[in-house]
Amino acid sequence: MSARTAYVGRFAPSPTGPLHAGSIVAALASWLDARAHHGRWLVRIEDIDKPREQPGAAESILDTLRQLGLVWDDSPSWQSQRLEAYGAALKSLVSRGMAYPCACTRSEIADSQQRSVATGASSQAVRGIERPYPGTCRNGLAPGRTARSWRFRLPDQAIVQFDDRWQGWQQQDVANEVGDFVLQRADGLFAYQLAVMVDDGAQGITDVIRGADLLGSTARQRLLGRALGLADLRYMHVPVVLAADGEKLSKQNGALAVDARHPVEVLDRAFGHLGFARSAESSLEGWLADATRRWAEFRSA
Ligand code: GLU
Repeated sequence: MSARTAYVGRFAPSPTGPLHAGSIVAALASWLDARAHHGRWLVRIEDIDKPREQPGAAESILDTLRQLGLVWDDSPSWQSQRLEAYGAALKSLVSRGMAYPCACTRSEIADSQQRSVATGASSQAVRGIERPYPGTCRNGLAPGRTARSWRFRLPDQAIVQFDDRWQGWQQQDVANEVGDFVLQRADGLFAYQLAVMVDDGAQGITDVIRGADLLGSTARQRLLGRALGLADLRYMHVPVVLAADGEKLSKQNGALAVDARHPVEVLDRAFGHLGFARSAESSLEGWLADATRRWAEFRSA
């Protein structure tokens, strides 16, 4: 690690429910990596999507982290208090031609994608993998149309490569696989991609450790980060915990809140998911110190 940049990590839960076995894995890996690097670890509550929020979830997440001894530095930040910063970032992108208004509805986008499948215009869409935004409003709104959302204008070179510390070398052709993506939605809410990059930048985050379900967002975030003048972050996407149905564990498929009255058991299970053997330590302090030492030895390169 460069001596110039002191390590700053973060855990950024959305308060859509209490912490469960899956989110604990991301929290633990991120905490351990920060401690192993003698860095700072911040907690950011990503509460900008009010309709998906569950009342009381943010407080419950913070309580559980405390009970597990995953103590954070500084006070937690709340995205709902940062709307001005997201608005300013969007404005700055617009003023530099890097964001544009879009009038398309979901069904219009789906229609034009189907047409491009029919004419064979997009091999990705034909394979049914991802359907990139077709760029309908890229060169201006059609007469009589009004802006609904704002999109990021991808740079000409939108192939992103990065070395993920868990998943290895990654490459995504963002133009082909995603297209110009949304920064502010038609309902006025700022998109996760914009808010997360503005905050990672403002908080001086150097290292993001999170679940592998977010691996596919990383290329978009890197392009956006560069457009906002931020230094590239390092990433590690840890394996997600799967539910019995093979889907990522979530509130929707019955993920239970963890029982933080038995912190060492909860932590041991999460650590096991990250490939580590059970710790012999039975006190919380002892367990965290032992896990930090083992993480530093095996994972903090
Ligand atoms: N808030 C996102 C989530 O809970 C995570 C964001 C991130 O770590 O970049 O899924």
